[in-house]
Amino acid sequence: MIATSKIQAGGARAKARCDELGTVPYSDQADGLFRPYLGPAHKATLGRLAQWMDEAGMSVETDAVGNIIGHYAGTTPDAPVLLLGSHVDSVRDGGRYDGMLGVMLGIEAVAHFSRSGQRFPFALEVIGFGDEEGSRFSTYMMGSRSAAGLAQTIDEGVTDREGITLRQALADWGLSSIRFRTAKRENVLAYIEAHIEQAPHLERAGLPVGLVRGIASQYRYRVTIKGQAAHAGTAMHERRDALAAAAEAITAIESIGAAGPDDLVTTVGFLTVENGAPNVVPGHVVMTVDIRAVTPGLREEAARQVLETLEAISRRRGVALECEQVQDLQGALCNETLNATLREAIIEATGHVPPVLLSQAGHDAMIMAHLAPMTMLFIRCEGGISHNPAEAVESDDVEAAHRTLVSFIKRVGEER
Ligand SMILES: [Zn+2]
Repeated sequence: MIATSKIQAGGARAKARCDELGTVPYSDQADGLFRPYLGPAHKATLGRLAQWMDEAGMSVETDAVGNIIGHYAGTTPDAPVLLLGSHVDSVRDGGRYDGMLGVMLGIEAVAHFSRSGQRFPFALEVIGFGDEEGSRFSTYMMGSRSAAGLAQTIDEGVTDREGITLRQALADWGLSSIRFRTAKRENVLAYIEAHIEQAPHLERAGLPVGLVRGIASQYRYRVTIKGQAAHAGTAMHERRDALAAAAEAITAIESIGAAGPDDLVTTVGFLTVENGAPNVVPGHVVMTVDIRAVTPGLREEAARQVLETLEAISRRRGVALECEQVQDLQGALCNETLNATLREAIIEATGHVPPVLLSQAGHDAMIMAHLAPMTMLFIRCEGGISHNPAEAVESDDVEAAHRTLVSFIKRVGEER
């Protein structure tokens, strides 16, 4: 009788490995997954990843900010690099596939070629970014910012919940913030990131994978409305009600988003009524406004409309208005040439013409776009749910993503 060893297909193994990394010691939370930047779970995870990268035929290094990089050489020593990756950190009580699945698929793609010793006129590198979610410090995408060579400054006041500074956390890993710039990846040909969709479009279309047109730009504002706190017995025409002004603003902001193209979204997600009480006309409200769009210029136009509307409401109601911009995250469009290649790869791997999707969520790819042409491959996830332990993907879909990446790499090789 012939002995059969258990050989898992690349996609199934990628998924199984994400599952393995979903528990202690790869999680800092006993029940569920929490893998914050530079924590013990992050360290344990890098150890396991290094092992898998090594088995897949890669040399492994960790850079100055704690990103892990596996390198599979090209046909010449000075060949440019095709970079595949995503992030290894998670939010608190997060899902197992957001980020990590892209790293695993990168490793599987390299393992596929290294089994037969196939090399390309470019090196393949798999990168696992340490900080994308910003779930430990109030930073985000620090891994990809460093890898893309964008300027980094460390705010001395940045600490985690326990009061440990970012500088100290880096020092505890033997890393130095001064060397951030040395984390920049050189000679990068292109960057591709496979990621769960985080929206239900693929599920609705009944398809395993899709193309991404671009990642939305984001603005976030903190809006303070000050009226006058007064007794609830105050006559209606004598009031300067900050909450009623906010309520009018919220529906107006919703209407601006709804009236725009599909890729424009506007949200008031957080609202505080200072010193609110049942018998008090609210005098002071703070709320957030989040505006996102993929099409260049659309976010800016929507923001102009939102600010004008806020001013008009506050003038008419006699309340004071302060708008502070607290975030300006530049989105990115995926590279059209890479997308044409990826489209062909998806057709070969799945037999379907892929839908073209938008990403309203931010990804490392939007940062890497500063360094090199980039694209993204989205994988169907159940209900479009992420940042949640219920996050789920099908093995067959991950297999389709694996076949797509293998085909994509071959095609990029043929085009060069
Ligand atoms: Zn992610």
